[in-house]
Amino acid sequence: MSTVEDRPGSPAGDLPLRPELRGQLPYGAPQLDVAHRLNVNENPYPPPPAMVSDVAMAVAEVAAGLNRYPDRDATALRAGLAAYVARDVPGATWVDVGQVWPANGSNEVMLQLLQAFGGPGRTALAFAPTYSMYPDYCRDTFTAYATLPRREDFTIDLDAALAHVAAEQPDVLLLASPNNPTGTALRLDEVAALCTASRGIVVVDEAYAEFRRPGTPSAIELLPAHPRLVVTRTMSKAFALAGARLGYLVASPAVVDAVQLVRLPYHLSAVTQAVARTALRHADALLAGVAALRAERDALVDWLRAQPGVVAADSDANFVLFGRFADRDAVWRRLLDHGVLVRATGPDGWLRVSAGTPAEMAAFRAALLASVEPGDVLA
Ligand SMILES: *Cc1c(COP(=O)(O)O)cnc(C)c1O
Repeated sequence: MSTVEDRPGSPAGDLPLRPELRGQLPYGAPQLDVAHRLNVNENPYPPPPAMVSDVAMAVAEVAAGLNRYPDRDATALRAGLAAYVARDVPGATWVDVGQVWPANGSNEVMLQLLQAFGGPGRTALAFAPTYSMYPDYCRDTFTAYATLPRREDFTIDLDAALAHVAAEQPDVLLLASPNNPTGTALRLDEVAALCTASRGIVVVDEAYAEFRRPGTPSAIELLPAHPRLVVTRTMSKAFALAGARLGYLVASPAVVDAVQLVRLPYHLSAVTQAVARTALRHADALLAGVAALRAERDALVDWLRAQPGVVAADSDANFVLFGRFADRDAVWRRLLDHGVLVRATGPDGWLRVSAGTPAEMAAFRAALLASVEPGDVLA
């Protein structure tokens, strides 16, 4: 692995940097100029034209008041988010503004959660392979990071998890569902059992919630019964709004009160709040695009599994983990040579590809056929 020291003009050795940051590299999925970018699970469909013009109008309106700080409590946006998440729970009347908290991407939400509930002498537990940012949030908040391995099919060994939680009582459980990079969703009974066993905060990271397959419920349903459960969501994926940076959590009002202690003053700009509020009004059009992506994802899994020797993990997200290759970096490079950028992530031998438009998926299939010889695939 390369380090900061390898970079010309980056004499980190001269700075009094925290020792645990020495030699580390910043988060960096490559942002390459490639015909087909299928590496960071973005929504390939740009926001619809009606939303683009509404966003432009909303931004023009707030522009006239930018001499003032924004609404610190983002009340109007939280009301819109609360109404949106209530859709996920049949007959829900209990999602109120006090249960929702937004920040600059769910990455910031997660950092705030660890600032409030992690810290020196405390531990967060996750199930590997999982989201590569979890160890970074822990490092940045002086929280110890521990993992238990997932099973071969990337599900969680619930008995082992419950035993570990009972014995160790981690302060924060980090459960990505659907999980990145594997696409695996947790069952509600698994989340509920972990909530019951844990005295700490249980975070279910539902960044990909809108892509889950029919019959996979959201952990939001469990909130009334579990006051220490936190569900995080984002507008970066389903809402085609990665560029706006808006994530949020849904939890008991006490959790929202707690993260407000650590948030920076006026953390969410008036522009961001206006853009997100406007996007929520276009939820139905955006979710129609999500349905198309789910179908592309399912077709992609089927196609990959039809290739000799290739395996693909079940996915409830907008990406598919597939493999296994003797030299995944070589396959990654050959795909790139064919204009298709995927992600070399997850356990050795696997690659991750985002669900894209029909044209992007056709380009991916053609590139993979041109890039992989029978001997590349592990038996
Ligand atoms: C993409 C992703 C997020 C979302 O990050 P944002 O900061 O909201 O853009 C969160 N968790 C996981 C597991 C993700 O893959």
